[in-house]
Amino acid sequence: MKLVLIGCPGAGKGTQAKILSEKFDIAHISTGDLLREQVAGGTPLGLKLKEIMASGGLVSDDIVEGLLEERIKKDDCKNGYILDGYPRNVSQAEGLSKIVGELDSVVVIDVPDDAIIERMSGRRSCGSCGAMYHTKYNPPKEEGVCDKCGAKLVLRADDNPETVKHRLDVYHEQTAPVIGFYEKQGIVYKADGSQAIEKVTEELTSYLEKI
Ligand code: AMP
Repeated sequence: MKLVLIGCPGAGKGTQAKILSEKFDIAHISTGDLLREQVAGGTPLGLKLKEIMASGGLVSDDIVEGLLEERIKKDDCKNGYILDGYPRNVSQAEGLSKIVGELDSVVVIDVPDDAIIERMSGRRSCGSCGAMYHTKYNPPKEEGVCDKCGAKLVLRADDNPETVKHRLDVYHEQTAPVIGFYEKQGIVYKADGSQAIEKVTEELTSYLEKI
C-alpha cells in the first residue's frame, strides 16, 4: 500500500500516519523527521537545514527527494508506506510519480486555519524519541515528561505562532495545489481533521480497508 497524507501543519498528519502505519503494517515516512535527523547530526548540511526549517520555509526539492529515495529502499518499506509531509509542492509530486509509480491513495486531512494556531501552541514533542503530545488534547501522564521514554518534552522550534503563520502561507501557496494534481488522477480522499484523533483514525481506517 502506497499512501500520501496531505494536510497543513498541525492537521494531525504525523499522529494519524503513526497509528495507520501500525494498523496496516506499513512504514511511516516523515520527511520532516528525516530532515530533523540531519539537523541533529550537526553536519554543515544539517546547520543549513536548521535555519530553513526554523523559518518555516521549504527545504530544496533535491535534498528532500534524495533522503526519501534512500529511505524507501529500506526493508520495512516492502509492505508499503505512508508518506507524511511529502510531496510539499507540485514538482515533488511529479518527481514522486517517477520514483514510486502509481499511488494507492492520497488522503487529505482538512482543518481550518484558525483551529491550527490554537492546536500548534499546545503541541509538544519528546526531545529524545520524537513522540508527540498536546497539552489539552493528548497530554502526557506527567506534565512535560514523555510517557514512552521519560525524556523532557519540548516545543518544536518551528511551532511558535509567527512561524506557524508562515508555514500555513507556504502550505496554501505550494502544497494545496498538490491536491488538485492528485484529484485529476481520482485518488484523493478528504477527511475532516477537526474531529477528535480517534474519530479521524476511525474514518481513515474504514476508508483504507476498502481500497
Ligand atoms: P514537518 O515535520 O512535516 O512539519 O516538516 C518540518 C519542516 O521540514 C518544514 O517546515 C520544512 O521546512 C521541512 N520539510 C519537511 N518536508 C519537506 C518537503 N517535502 N519539502 C521541503 N521541505 C520539507
